[in-house]
Amino acid sequence: MTKRPRSITIISWIFITFGGLAFLLSLRPLADSAGAQWIAEHPFEFWLIPVIQILALLSGLFMLYGFNWARWLLVVWVGSHVIISAMHSAFELVVHSLLFVVVLYFIFRPQATKYFRGARAKLPPTPLMLLPALLLIIPVFAQQTSTNFSWPDGKRAALSLSFDDARQSQVDAGLALLDKHKVKVTFYVVPSGVERRLDGWKKVVASGHEIGNHSLNHPCTGNFTWSRQKALEDYTIEKMNAELAQANRRIKELLGVTAESFAYPCGQTFVGRGVDTRSYVPVVATLFSSGRTWQDETANDPGFCDLAQATGLEMDGRDFEQILPILEKARETGQWVVLAGHEIGQDGQQTTRVTMLEKLMSYANDPANKLWISPVGTIAKYIRERRGGN
Ligand SMILES: [Zn+2]
Repeated sequence: MTKRPRSITIISWIFITFGGLAFLLSLRPLADSAGAQWIAEHPFEFWLIPVIQILALLSGLFMLYGFNWARWLLVVWVGSHVIISAMHSAFELVVHSLLFVVVLYFIFRPQATKYFRGARAKLPPTPLMLLPALLLIIPVFAQQTSTNFSWPDGKRAALSLSFDDARQSQVDAGLALLDKHKVKVTFYVVPSGVERRLDGWKKVVASGHEIGNHSLNHPCTGNFTWSRQKALEDYTIEKMNAELAQANRRIKELLGVTAESFAYPCGQTFVGRGVDTRSYVPVVATLFSSGRTWQDETANDPGFCDLAQATGLEMDGRDFEQILPILEKARETGQWVVLAGHEIGQDGQQTTRVTMLEKLMSYANDPANKLWISPVGTIAKYIRERRGGN
């Protein structure tokens, strides 16, 4: 076996060291949200840069063991940097060209050529060869835990429509409208509302819509005079737990379904007051696979959101033109939009407009818009599976 020239040893180690270090540094953007944004905008570079650095490491490693192809890989590697630097600045071009010439000189000197021709190429020890492969896996994991959440079938965003309180207009005006557009939604019902129109609600279930739990008594802050006798300020966790379980039993008795999603009455998530205030989100997280709040300012980031308090955006009293920007933003950023409404009708207080719904459902059903429209429970389940159960 021909002895390895010292210059080859030095060049090999320079490329192993700098290739490895540059690779580790390139992982730095993964640590913060600005970096996550960069990855989302430059998916190609996100993969290309680590691969290029690993190639430098590989060529150094295999040159140490006398592989002739590793020498040529190094030529291509340095040569391509000369070309890239020509696009940046004259200074960079000069520096890279000099480096190229020096590297070429040492790796094509007669004793180097003799080494690469004569060396009986021996594979480096297996653990060493696994190192570059292991390093390349890091971005895969990083990607899975950061922003790269994807919706099924190439969809760009998800949309859920939800209606609260089991109001009569949901059955009278809503059901036929939703069925006409073949859109499935989530109805967060209060059992007493269901009792008033039981036959209608059974039709809602038969049509395939989701039935969620919206509590038994609809307790909100006592600042609403209608809620003074059932004020959240006077509730305890135990009382809330019992009430939500009771509402689940009632829904099962009335409609034969198990509610897997919950909508917080008035979007409020606390019980008690002052130092004794508690969040009842843990109760919801225990009893249900998803929970929805109300009048939030942003849609959900599916890679991050807490499914026990998914945000809900108001759709009552809005025209489609006011909802459209929310959907467009969601399509750009991959969000999950949950819209929440009450009455379904032409106009009026707490009313989701029929004209808005017509346009909204046409938009959601247009394949060109790549929007996945499904009930809250369906999308929450997908998100949970996609995130590995979280
Ligand atoms: Zn409500």
